[in-house]
Amino acid sequence: MMRQYELVERVKAYNPGADEGLLNRAYVYAMRAHGTQKRASGDPFFAHPLEVAAILTDLRLDDATIVAAVLHDTVEDTAATLDEINRVFSPEIGTLVDGLTKIKRLDLVSKRAAQGENFRKLLLAIAADVRVLLVKLADRLHNMRTLQHMPAEKRARIAQETLDIYAPLASRMGMQELREELEDLSFVNLKPDVYATIAKRLADLSAKSERLVESIERDLIAKLAHAGITATVKGRQKRPYSIWSKMERKSVAFEQLSDIFGFRVIVDTVDTCYRALGVVHTTWPMVPGRYKDYISTPKQNDYRSIHTTVIGPKSQRVELQIRTTAMDEIGEYGIAAHALYKDGAPHLATESGAYQWLRRTIELLAEGDSPEEFLEHTKLELFQDQVFCFTPKGRLIALPRGATPIDFAYAVHTDVGNTAVGAKINGRIAPLLTELQNGDEVEIARADGQIPPAAWESLVVTGKARAAIRRATRSAVRRQYAGLGRQILDRAFERAGKNFSDEKLRGALPRLARQSTEDVFAAVGRGEMFSGDVVKAVYPDYKDERRAASQPAPGGPRPHVTGAGRLSLDKDQTVRLTWPGKDATGKDGGKGPGSGGETTEDGAIPIRGLDSDLLVRFAPDGGAVPGDRIVGILTPGEGVTIYPIQSPALAAFDNEPDRWLDVRWDVDGASNQRFPARLALQSINEPGSFAQIAQVIADHDGNIDNISMKRRTQDFTDVTIDLAVWDLKHLNAIVSELRAKRVVSRVDRVNG
Ligand code: MN
Repeated sequence: MMRQYELVERVKAYNPGADEGLLNRAYVYAMRAHGTQKRASGDPFFAHPLEVAAILTDLRLDDATIVAAVLHDTVEDTAATLDEINRVFSPEIGTLVDGLTKIKRLDLVSKRAAQGENFRKLLLAIAADVRVLLVKLADRLHNMRTLQHMPAEKRARIAQETLDIYAPLASRMGMQELREELEDLSFVNLKPDVYATIAKRLADLSAKSERLVESIERDLIAKLAHAGITATVKGRQKRPYSIWSKMERKSVAFEQLSDIFGFRVIVDTVDTCYRALGVVHTTWPMVPGRYKDYISTPKQNDYRSIHTTVIGPKSQRVELQIRTTAMDEIGEYGIAAHALYKDGAPHLATESGAYQWLRRTIELLAEGDSPEEFLEHTKLELFQDQVFCFTPKGRLIALPRGATPIDFAYAVHTDVGNTAVGAKINGRIAPLLTELQNGDEVEIARADGQIPPAAWESLVVTGKARAAIRRATRSAVRRQYAGLGRQILDRAFERAGKNFSDEKLRGALPRLARQSTEDVFAAVGRGEMFSGDVVKAVYPDYKDERRAASQPAPGGPRPHVTGAGRLSLDKDQTVRLTWPGKDATGKDGGKGPGSGGETTEDGAIPIRGLDSDLLVRFAPDGGAVPGDRIVGILTPGEGVTIYPIQSPALAAFDNEPDRWLDVRWDVDGASNQRFPARLALQSINEPGSFAQIAQVIADHDGNIDNISMKRRTQDFTDVTIDLAVWDLKHLNAIVSELRAKRVVSRVDRVNG
């Protein structure tokens, strides 16, 4: 355990003016408060706050932060009170400890809504003083380092929380080294087998390429020196978690990862950075598409560096980061680097990008309607990298990765988004759904009186755009439903052999308890009212004779229908696709209007509530699973086909926005309902390779519906697997594990 004088020495090493008396008081106070408390490891509890303080001295933080670290568990876990801390230390330190105590009481890995609410509280606690976050991150790091002493079920939970909340926060604050350690510690606890596999392969690889790394380093230094540039070059291996997430994200196998080694070139000035870049690019061919200049356009967390990849010595792809010493410090320590002692006075730069982000996020708290919605866009913004785009006048618009010109338009102004009809990217006309790239210049074409298509809501990635589209399309969605309802009613009256007009319907409004015909159409369109009931309301003596008869499918081949679903419109005016539990899928013998209990010849079950007028089916090639962002394509008289948003088949409906229904999943977790998905694999031909693939799927409790195989070459076989899975997470778990298998050279999801 760290001694009292050691703590003081560590602080004095970087801050000769540190308040020794204050540090000593904190040490003694916390030691007495924790007394004989023990940690799960059996160590004295007091060792923990000291380790946390030690981590923060590495970041060279000010006295108040170090003292808060030493005291951080006293109010929650001992007899110490906040009043006493305010008195013995200072209100400044009291505020820090109070923030940490509040965070400790939050349960971040809880139900979605509760998680959203707690995440808000977390950010509010941090808002009081960003140093609270620095102490919390150090606290979490030490807890993760000693996680092996906790019971298994707690380990998984804490590791998941670290991965979901704290690692992204560290990244946001620019603290990359801390983030990487948190991620790897989470990874080893969550997926020990996968971690071990990757770590072993990394070790093998680095043993093989040790000489190569050294020679590349030497080569770089020599070439730069020749041009009169003094540089420090650091070769660096990627971390297991970062490799794993890249394999997941880019759908590549370990062998296909070319950039497992990176090199950092550190020079003195910005000017030298660009000169060094010139030397590198004239010495070795650059790999197109890999050059990024974060010096002229820093990331939101203040990260600055030039990135490039070249075909270096021995035809090896070499990833380079070129930056100054100061940039390197910010790259590693982020917001904490701003806290370095300058002119002998401590200060956390409030103008730093990371701090600005925190402020903005907290402002959103005040505006957000529901915690869930808040979490939705905070998470999006936390977990996705940024792209930087420009208006024609050169205004910088930062957007999350995956953003489209629609997001861009809403980021510029809500009116621009609402009236957007087209976009030019870098001077060329491009679809509004194009994924924007860094540096794109985007010009939005507008038309007045335009209503954004409802489908946009599930295509945009920014919370701002989504909220604006939701507002603007609320009435448009209603009209869409009314149109659908009118079609359904037209057919219902026709089948019943009865005349139908708005006039006649108006006469029946009191019986239907609706205000207007439009209300009736919308209610039928939404499935809240049955067409048969409307016919009866208009013609009270009409008898529905076809209820028991099975309804043949309207023309053409039918894609398979996987169960009884229901489209409904919730209070946000969002269409929800609901899948009730198995016992409610019509096996209940047809209780309640519309459920009918009847199935058609191919086992399809009419959608509940719509009296078999509207069938919900999945895209025939590939299907869709909960977690996919989906749209419904309406075919009047036939039903709704659900496609994942990324399905190329959707292009066929681009010019028919009226047919797009914005659909959300609403799946009952207890329903045991599986959903169809298709994977395309390429496997290496060797004995047992197929058994390994099947085993992965079996281990994950995936159902294989169908498999087809085609030997492509002597070495490879193409395999198509139709699966039934619970949801996207389930599917991704299977895909990720398949990708980690040596016998699998690639795996892709097929989407129609
Ligand atoms: Mn603690």
